[in-house]
Amino acid sequence: MQVDYSLAALRAWRLEFAGRVGLVPTMGALHAGHLRLVEQAQAENDAVVVSIFVNPTQFAATEDLSSYPRTLEADLALLARAGVNRVLVPTPEQVYPPRFQTYVNVEQVSKGLEGASRPTHFRGVTTVVLKLFNLVQPHRAYFGQKDAQQVVVIRQMVRDLNVPVDIRVVPTVREPDGLALSSRNVYLTPSERELAPMLYRALQAAADAYAHTARDPQHLRALMHARLSEVGALHVDYISVADAQTLEELYSPQAAPMLVSLAVQIGKPRLLDNCLLPLELNTLEGLTANLGGS
Ligand code: AMP
Repeated sequence: MQVDYSLAALRAWRLEFAGRVGLVPTMGALHAGHLRLVEQAQAENDAVVVSIFVNPTQFAATEDLSSYPRTLEADLALLARAGVNRVLVPTPEQVYPPRFQTYVNVEQVSKGLEGASRPTHFRGVTTVVLKLFNLVQPHRAYFGQKDAQQVVVIRQMVRDLNVPVDIRVVPTVREPDGLALSSRNVYLTPSERELAPMLYRALQAAADAYAHTARDPQHLRALMHARLSEVGALHVDYISVADAQTLEELYSPQAAPMLVSLAVQIGKPRLLDNCLLPLELNTLEGLTANLGGS
């Protein structure tokens, strides 16, 4: 496995490499969710590049940039064991050199949900992802359903800017008790960790109601609020039932697929989770297939 600490080294390899390239962008502190993206990328490409970069522009000044978990040595060992070809570990100074001043902003679908609480977040994500696409020039890039809005935002960017990358969406990997794997789960104290599967249980309550034809979004949101308010130590940031393609919040039942998502603060970390209804959809991939780049 080759580890590139410089953009130039990666570019030199890419200019020579003629096969299909899959890119897995990450912020490190790798877990089995990231490895699932890697596995799928390996199955579909001749070489896989994993990037590890804690992207400063997607953190607001008040957020956890400096304390975000960094476990580079363990990450590299995991990726070597998984048989990854190349890992790109750039410095912030290389990615954002002095006088950097160009950002990508996807206007509508970046605004709600995460965007409402984190207004500059997606601008940072789309900017770094487009830079990675330009540097690595992958045929396919792999993202987790766990960050569903990120998928919608990136697919929109790819469509709007004619970026020739196929966006693949990988199902959420969970702990046995339902908690979605996340690098931020390490912040949970043992007692908070016990409460954390409540996010998944609230989603399951909504999915059960939906399966029994209780499909009114207002009802589903109320149901999830009720489940979460049973637990005092949680602070609900949002609970959303939205159109899965436009991310517009829904107020009456509709036949089209819905994205049910929530953000909850438990102690230090703010945890996210989501599901699609009907549940059989599993990921946004099929739903947004008509948005592919050209
Ligand atoms: P991060 O390092 O948190 O920026 O995540 C890198 C990629 O891994 C993103 O596309 C995430 O959506 C994806 N990811 C994170 N957690 C999971 C998970 N539990 N299951 C599947 N994909 C995940």
